[in-house]
Amino acid sequence: MPRPIEALVHTAALAHNLARARAAAPDARVWAVVKANAYGHGIERAFEGLRAADGFALLDFAEAERLRALDWRGPILLLEGCFEPRDLELCSRLQLWHVVHCEQQIDWLAAHKTQQPHRVFLKMNSGMNRLGFTPAAFRSAWVRLNALPQVDEISLMTHFSDADGPRGVDHQLSAFAAATHDLPGERSVSNSAATLRHGLNNDWVRAGIMAYGSAPDFPAHDIQHWGLQPAMTLRSRLIATQQLQPGDTVGYGSSYTAREPQRIGIVACGYADGYPRHAGTDTPVLVDGVRTGTVGRVSMDMLAVDLTPVPQAGVGSEVTLWGRGPGGALLAIDDVAHAAGTIGYELMCAVAPRVPMRSSD
Ligand SMILES: *Cc1c(COP(=O)(O)O)cnc(C)c1O
Repeated sequence: MPRPIEALVHTAALAHNLARARAAAPDARVWAVVKANAYGHGIERAFEGLRAADGFALLDFAEAERLRALDWRGPILLLEGCFEPRDLELCSRLQLWHVVHCEQQIDWLAAHKTQQPHRVFLKMNSGMNRLGFTPAAFRSAWVRLNALPQVDEISLMTHFSDADGPRGVDHQLSAFAAATHDLPGERSVSNSAATLRHGLNNDWVRAGIMAYGSAPDFPAHDIQHWGLQPAMTLRSRLIATQQLQPGDTVGYGSSYTAREPQRIGIVACGYADGYPRHAGTDTPVLVDGVRTGTVGRVSMDMLAVDLTPVPQAGVGSEVTLWGRGPGGALLAIDDVAHAAGTIGYELMCAVAPRVPMRSSD
């Protein structure tokens, strides 16, 4: 028997979450953001659930090729654009739309020989200070692009730093609006948080994390609040149990000490599977569908869980690290991430290649 850990990707949940993005932005078209191998779910598996999207947004040429190999003929947007001039040949060949965020990318386009002019998304740095032209430089970039025979349609785009938090989007949105109000072209400004929290309904919304069933603004809101369903389950089994006496410790560094007699279970899941090593004692976990907590340090291949609330559990009992448990139990990836001091995004992207992953209903 293989080691019992596995990850399931819930196709119907992806489709449900995509429909939530549509409902939240009824006038917009929806990019399903599938960068980072579809946030760790696998492009091919995610595609099954997200094929109703209007387009797919990602960063890697290899991932764009995988989408074309699935016979996706619709729009694909490269969120970081080209990394060197010859990438433009791939854009022409695979009909990829690409972000233009710096002068060099315009130089490369100006030197590119193509039969078919490109659709580009001109990106503004409206305050994130990562990629894009400042509001002051935006217009001249647009004018330059607009004069190129290599460019056919120019869309306008920016990205928010605080759509999920108290600062919000207004300061960036007004910078974007002021610098673009008289420029033609479709607009794309919203990630999941801006779509859900701020109801921003421009021409194209970019739905990433919400499609995978994680709340972009947890713990302010959870997936129930936003009507999202977990798209990934990480599950394993108990491979041993131990009976602790008061004073007994658990795992490396003896970071946990039992204060009374306590039964614990050992789970075949560790940080080499992508489970966060920083998850301390009491990170939520389901055993046989019952919520309990981890005890002690996570090691490479194992972690320990408290069996006090599940006295009937034993070797072979199902353990849900996140996602759907037996009997309809749910453990949101956000609960686990929060307990480990991180975000759902990081956990789903970090599931290790050694964990078998498959599509499920
Ligand atoms: C990743 C990404 C998104 C998606 O963000 P979520 O918070 O996952 O919805 C949108 N736009 C850009 C530019 C991105 O890089």
